[in-house]
Amino acid sequence: MPATSSTPLCTALLIDGELVAGAGRAEAIFNPATGEVLAQVPEASAEQVEAAIQAAHRAFASWSRSTPQQRANVLLAIADALQKQLEPIARLEALNCGKPLHLARQDDLPAAIDVFRFFAGAVRCQTGQLAGEYLPGYTSMVRRDPLGVVASIAPWNYPIMMAAWKIAPALAAGNTLVFKPSEHTPLSILALAPALNELLPAGVLNIVCGGGESVGSHLVSHARVRMVSLTGDIVTGQKILQAASRTLKRTHLELGGKAPVIVCNDADLQAVIEGVRSYGYYNAGQDCTAACRIYAQAGIHDRLVAELGSAVSSLRFAGKRDADNEIGPLITPRQRDRVASFVERALSQPHIERVTGAAVHSGPGFFYQPTLLAGCRQSDEIVQREVFGPVVTVTRFDELSQAVDWANDSEYGLASSVWTRNLDKAMQIANRLQYGCTWINSHFMLVSEMPHGGLKRSGYGKDLSSDSLQDYSVVRHIMARHGEHLE
Ligand code: NAD
Repeated sequence: MPATSSTPLCTALLIDGELVAGAGRAEAIFNPATGEVLAQVPEASAEQVEAAIQAAHRAFASWSRSTPQQRANVLLAIADALQKQLEPIARLEALNCGKPLHLARQDDLPAAIDVFRFFAGAVRCQTGQLAGEYLPGYTSMVRRDPLGVVASIAPWNYPIMMAAWKIAPALAAGNTLVFKPSEHTPLSILALAPALNELLPAGVLNIVCGGGESVGSHLVSHARVRMVSLTGDIVTGQKILQAASRTLKRTHLELGGKAPVIVCNDADLQAVIEGVRSYGYYNAGQDCTAACRIYAQAGIHDRLVAELGSAVSSLRFAGKRDADNEIGPLITPRQRDRVASFVERALSQPHIERVTGAAVHSGPGFFYQPTLLAGCRQSDEIVQREVFGPVVTVTRFDELSQAVDWANDSEYGLASSVWTRNLDKAMQIANRLQYGCTWINSHFMLVSEMPHGGLKRSGYGKDLSSDSLQDYSVVRHIMARHGEHLE
């Protein structure tokens, strides 16, 4: 059954334990697969943002003193609530992002649920330095404490998953939150808000909607907010850093990516084709780890371009039956046009060849054809800049050292992969790549137990894993001078 706009919509914000209508300007929320307006969600007024921050500040005193077990129990209950609402929330996610419902149901929702469960366990078994006498007569011990109010700001590509990645570790670590979804995709987290409100004490988690320049920048510049966590664009990260510098907030930035995919002559070609067909185009390429920048060694290059071209041209989208669709549209007409202009500029270069795609899909919705471009050079804009759409480039190389240099010659440093049957070679390449993650003979796979985050301009915060708990907490040293010695 397709997702339909008859799915009930919640548009209320969550502030200080109350579900309230936003008092600011209304934002039209679209279904990108049809262009239809789904709802008008009023953003939070300046007074409501202020109230959310003050509520989180008040709630911090008791939430930060709750035990890991108490917080874990709440996170497990949130996971259960999300599991119970899996179907309606998957429908909203599909509607609001235009993504195929079966994928929202099988990928986004289970992943988000698992993140709440993971952090419920992780917060109860943290490890650290040993307490001891490092100065005679004094006992030192290390605590890991929450920071205070965290402002979490999310993008539109995986709304419920990004909410889970931001909310679960911050709450587990004992912080209180003001969460802002993307102005384009607030529906899934707003649908969960009533359940969250029943499970959490007032003020511990507040949800405010609105634009980046209005609601987002208010959160970032507020003195009571101790940390800002952003997943978004590099330029947004830079603005947030500037604003946060005034109050010296901790920042946690997950920014863009341009993942290199190094394909050696001895790679399993079929595995490469299947991998890139899936993970270069998953979510219409609106994924910061998308396998979008292929470096193919000369001996495999021509077969790879030919076979990948036909595989990509078989990707199914914009069909009537949800189960038939493998990818969705771009999130907005603006994003679709941005992708189209990247491709146009690339194809104006005589050395770049269109293998497949390279056009806006005719018909309703904001679809762009899955596109493969070959003959691309390292210095080309399409190789250097993040497109964030269903566009993959292929660049030929001869020597492996050249491929590694090219892969590392990027402002981004989030994800990468290497494809070869020789594990020795794979390990040597993986060790030299300057990326937060390198997959070997695979791409895209994330697990809650392992850290996800970038280097260079891809940012520096870690999501998922116990590393994320560390990012959302601070180390403190307690040193006790001993009294009378025991006889
Ligand atoms: P964006 O930066 O435009 O928006 C992200 C969020 O920041 C939104 O909620 C937006 O309202 C808010 N925002 C914008 N300007 C702001 C400001 N001045 N102050 C405070 N908040 C502000 O990004 P997007 O278009 O929603 O998402 C796409 C980008 O996110 C891509 O570049 C993509 O690579 C990146 N991304 C990165 C990861 C990762 O894990 N590294 C994951 C998903 C997306």
